[in-house]
Amino acid sequence: MEVKARSKKISDLRAYLETERERLRQEIARSNITTDEERAGYSNHMAENATVVFEQARNAALRRSEERMLEQVEDALKRMDDGTYGICRRCGEQIDLARLKALPTASLCLRCQHLLEHS
Ligand SMILES: [Zn+2]
Repeated sequence: MEVKARSKKISDLRAYLETERERLRQEIARSNITTDEERAGYSNHMAENATVVFEQARNAALRRSEERMLEQVEDALKRMDDGTYGICRRCGEQIDLARLKALPTASLCLRCQHLLEHS
């Protein structure tokens, strides 16, 4: 893969990651508001209502996964600034562009990811 073509692709991915970062920040900010409203609404009654508890647990899980995604997106953007984006942080090899396109936050090459998951 030509270096120039690769850096062009990576700048396309940066635009995607920046959009994704904005979206996640807004999602998280919005779910913070919702949680506060829920607390205000349910604090005096129906606190033990199973549906409410379930909803709150689900929202909390959703927000945690959004926060984790945001962290990964921010990490990927930071690596772009460092010039280490697209390089496997375990073996130092270039990560396949097809893999980066499928998973722009990837910080491991497919081989290392596989090794870690199966170790
Ligand atoms: Zn690797």
